[in-house]
Amino acid sequence: MTDVKKNLIGTDINDLQSLCQTLNEPKFRAQQIFDWVYNKGVRSIDDMQNLPLGFREQLAQHCTLDRSQVKSVMTSKDGTQKWLLHFADGNEAECVHIPEKTRGTLCISSQVGCTLTCTFCHTGTQMLVRNLSVAELLGQVISARDIFGEWPTPIGNRHISNIVLMGMGEPLYNYDNLSKALKIMMDSKGLGFSRQKITLSTSGVVPMIDKCAEDLKVRLAISLHAVRDDLRNEIVPINRKYPLKELMESVRRYPDTSSTKEVTFEYVMLKGVNDSASDARELVKLIAGIPAKINLIPFNPWPGSKYERSTADVIKKFAEILERSGYRSPIRRPRGQDIFAACGQLKSESKRACRTK
Ligand code: SAH
Ligand code: SF4
Repeated sequence: MTDVKKNLIGTDINDLQSLCQTLNEPKFRAQQIFDWVYNKGVRSIDDMQNLPLGFREQLAQHCTLDRSQVKSVMTSKDGTQKWLLHFADGNEAECVHIPEKTRGTLCISSQVGCTLTCTFCHTGTQMLVRNLSVAELLGQVISARDIFGEWPTPIGNRHISNIVLMGMGEPLYNYDNLSKALKIMMDSKGLGFSRQKITLSTSGVVPMIDKCAEDLKVRLAISLHAVRDDLRNEIVPINRKYPLKELMESVRRYPDTSSTKEVTFEYVMLKGVNDSASDARELVKLIAGIPAKINLIPFNPWPGSKYERSTADVIKKFAEILERSGYRSPIRRPRGQDIFAACGQLKSESKRACRTK
């Protein structure tokens, strides 16, 4: 074993089995460790009571249970909470909890910043970008569970019932780490979220959508935002690489290859840009035949943004056209705006922190 201690958070059952083998312990110990880390949420190796004392000591010599540090907590007047997580290398990412009557949603980040530059998104203006590790991805859920005291993994009601990958970053650009983390989140002996309770939002990384359909089968949300290539090329630049036709084909393949029944389309309402009645009608044509719901997101402004939010009337009319064609099209109520936690407002200070080092 190397001198660098291994963080048990971020290991899966295969890693733990190899670890046990290296330390000359039987394989079944791997499942016991997995249970302590992801089901019981212990903070110290010493608390892993069914492991022999000698093995606990040996484990502690080689391993840690490092959580990302929760640097600040902000609470909105609507109950939404935003946590700033601080990582060992000084980088930071944000994570948001949105309580509702019948559920509690944790919105997690997949990257520090984002390499994509959607013109209406604050995260896209952050220069420094790196993928979050498996430990950092899982750490967001684990820290939130710590805060709510929600250990062991509850069977019934939970503060965190749903997970959405709608924080900072493009999740499908961090596929390997994400898929490992999601499998641990979905493990009934681990963090115990069914795949129907996890929604992955992507700006449209087509090859990875297919991979996700094969491998993860979580619920899919597509950040559509425009129904014509010329406009989408401008506001969601990844469209130049994977244009609408290819994107829609991959979405059409998605429900067939998995048991997820409904795809969500996210559509940010930008005044005078993509919010006309004819846009709504074209949207209906574009998604014809796809079992879908459309989330209309009133644009959330940020300092320096060049767009305005569509008026409530325009958004309502847009929704009516979609509803008349048989699509549910809820208008997302902005949550946590007073603490800058709403969709597209997240951006960490990581770049500035690095510059001053
Ligand atoms: N990168 C992924 C997930 C993170 S963004 C993606 O783009 O899908 C989560 C959602 O918030 C996306 O639909 C995104 O387009 C939307 N969004 C970004 N900036 C926004 C803003 N300023 N106002 C409203 N929604 C925004
Ligand atoms: Fe990245 Fe999503 Fe923001 Fe686009 S909307 S810049 S893909 S985080």
